[in-house]
Amino acid sequence: MGETILGNRYKIEKKVGEGGMAYVYEAKDNLLNRRVAVKVLRPEFVDDQDFLKKFKREAEAVASLSHPNIVNVYDVGEDGKVHYIVMEYVDGKNLKEIIQEEGTLDEYTALDITKQIAMALGSAHKRGIIHRDIKPHNILISNEGRNIVKVADFGIAKAVSNSTMTNIGGVIGSVHYFSPEQAKGKFVTNNADLYSLGIVLYEMLTGKVPFRGETPVAIALQHINDDIEFTEEEKIRIPQSVRTIIKKLTEKNTMDRYQTAEELIEDIEYIEKNIDLDFIKEYDDFATKHIDERNLNTIAKPRIMPSSIADIDGDNGAYYDGEEEEEEYFDEEEEEEIPKRSRKRKKKVKKPVKEETPKMRKILKVAAVLLSLVLVAQIFVFFKLFGSSLFGSGESIIAPNVVGMQLDRARSTLEAKGLKLEVSSEEYSYSVLENCIISQDPVEGTELKEGDTITVVVSKGSNNKSEPNVVGMSLSRAQNMIQSSGFAVGDITYEFSSAYKEGTVLSQSNEDGKISLVVSKGEDTANKPTVPEQPDDNTDGNTGGSTGGNTGGSGNEGGSSGGNTGDSGSDGGSSGGDTGDSGSDGGSSGGDTGGSGSDGGSSGGDTGGATE
Ligand code: ATP
Ligand code: MG
Repeated sequence: MGETILGNRYKIEKKVGEGGMAYVYEAKDNLLNRRVAVKVLRPEFVDDQDFLKKFKREAEAVASLSHPNIVNVYDVGEDGKVHYIVMEYVDGKNLKEIIQEEGTLDEYTALDITKQIAMALGSAHKRGIIHRDIKPHNILISNEGRNIVKVADFGIAKAVSNSTMTNIGGVIGSVHYFSPEQAKGKFVTNNADLYSLGIVLYEMLTGKVPFRGETPVAIALQHINDDIEFTEEEKIRIPQSVRTIIKKLTEKNTMDRYQTAEELIEDIEYIEKNIDLDFIKEYDDFATKHIDERNLNTIAKPRIMPSSIADIDGDNGAYYDGEEEEEEYFDEEEEEEIPKRSRKRKKKVKKPVKEETPKMRKILKVAAVLLSLVLVAQIFVFFKLFGSSLFGSGESIIAPNVVGMQLDRARSTLEAKGLKLEVSSEEYSYSVLENCIISQDPVEGTELKEGDTITVVVSKGSNNKSEPNVVGMSLSRAQNMIQSSGFAVGDITYEFSSAYKEGTVLSQSNEDGKISLVVSKGEDTANKPTVPEQPDDNTDGNTGGSTGGNTGGSGNEGGSSGGNTGDSGSDGGSSGGDTGDSGSDGGSSGGDTGGSGSDGGSSGGDTGGATE
C-alpha cells in the first residue's frame, strides 16, 4: 500500500493505539516537519452528523488549551470521510500499560502522577473545559527526560456522552472511572474529573479498579452506592494519608469532594512531606464533616435542593430512588433523636417554672436580663483592660505549617494567628508549585509570640521548563515566547523559503537552553506564484502554526491530487481499500483555498489504510 497522507500534510507512519472511538497513528507533519499523533475517528461514526459536529467543536475548544501536562491539539480536520485530530505526539506509554507492567506503583510515584494530572485539570477547568473521561488510557507518560504526565482527550467525551453511548465499547470501558453523577447521566461539574482521578489513584496503588461488575450498569450502581474499600494488606501498605485523599476524591456527594484541583494539589504537596501522618491538612475538618454528615445533610439539603441535588434526585432509575429513600430514612432518624433529647431537657427546666406565679416569673425575667447585662459589661471591661496582655505577647503561639500553601494563603494563615510572614528568598522547585511555600523558618510546632515573624522560601516553579515550539511563528513572537519560557534566544540565521513568508521561523535548535532559530527570508526567485499563507500568528505557539492558513495551503494542493485519485466509494474509511472516497471530496473542495483547507483531501486512495 502506498503512503497515506491526510489533509495533504500528515504522513501516517504507524498505528500506536486504538480506542472505542478512534485509531491513533504516529505521523509526520510535512509542513512543519515535526512528529505528530493523528487520531482518526472510526468509520462507524463518520455518518453521525450530530456527533461529528460536537466532536469537532470540542476538539477545537481543546486546541485553545496549552499546558505542559495537556496533550496539545494542533489541528482538527477531515479528508473526505476521514475525520481526524492532530495532536502532540507523546513518546512513552499510557498509564494503563504502566500499571499492567508494574502491578502497583509506590505512593510517591502515584502522588506525583496524580498531581500532574491535577495540574492539567486545574488549567482546563479554569477555562471551562471538563475532561469527562479521566482514565489511565488517557494519561500518557512521556519518557523524555523525567516522567512528564500528559493528559489526552480533553472534552472529547462530551461529544460521545451526548451521542449513542451504548455503541461505544471504549466509553463503556470508562464506566470504571465514571463519577456517580456521570453514571446517572446527570449534570457534570469540574469535580467529576476529580472523582475519576481518585479512581485512577486507587488503581495506581492497588493495581485494580475499585468497582468491577458484569455489566456497565452493575458498575455504575456501585459508583452510586458502594464505598471504596481497601483490603487489610492495602491498609498496611498504603499510608492512611493517601487513602484519605482517595476518599475525599471519591465522595459520592460532589459537595463533600475536593472542589478544585488546586485544593487537591495542596494536600498532595502536604502529604508528600508528611506521608506517615495520619491526616491530611484539612483532615480534621474533613473528619468532622463525616461525623456530622447526617446533620449536615439535613442542614444543607434545603439549600442545595433547588439546583444540584434536586436535579440528581429527580428522576433516574429505580436504583437512585433507593438511595434517596435511604437518605430520607437517615434524616428522619436524626430528626427523631434531636427532639427526644431536647424534650428531656425541657422537662427538667419546666417543672419548677410551672409552679411559679406569672408575677414571679416576670420579676425573675427582669432580674435575669439585668444580671446578664451586668455580666456582659463586666466581660467587656475585663477584655478591654487585660485582653491584649492575655492574648498578646505573654501567650505563646504554636507556629502552624504553611509549607505547600500559596503565598497569600500562608500570609493570611499566619496573620490570623498574630504572626508575620517574610519572604527570605525565591527558588526553583520541581515539586512545589510556583508561588507556593517551599519551606518555613521556624518550623511548624515552634512556640512563638504574637508579632513574631516566620520567614519562608517561595517557589518560582520548575525551571525544567519544556522547550516551546516556535516553528511557524514570526521572529518577534518566537523571541518573546522563548524568553517567557525561561530560555535564551541563540543565533538567528536566515534561509530562503517558498513555503513561509519572510520573517517566519523555519526551524529551531536548542543548545544548553539557548534556542537558535532559522528564519525565512522569503522566496529565492519569484518563480512560484502559489505560496501558502503564513500560519496564524495570533494563536498560541503550538496550535498557531498548524491550523488556519497552513491547512488552507494544503487544501490548495488537495485540489489537484485529490482529484486525481478520487473515487466516490462510500466506505473507503472502513474498508481500508486503496481507492479512497476522499478523492472526490478533495477534488471539489481542494480547489478552495484558506479555511477549508482541511477539506482538501489529497490522500484519496490511501485514507482507507489509515483507518484500518
Ligand atoms: P477511548 O476510546 O475510550 O478514549 P483510549 O483512550 O484507549 O480509549 P484513544 O484515545 O483512541 O483510546 O487512544 C488509543 C491509544 O493511543 C491510547 O491509549 C494511547 O496509548 C495512544 N495515544 C493516544 N494519543 C496519543 C498521543 N498523542 N501520542 C502518543 N500516543 C497516543
Ligand atoms: Mg483516549
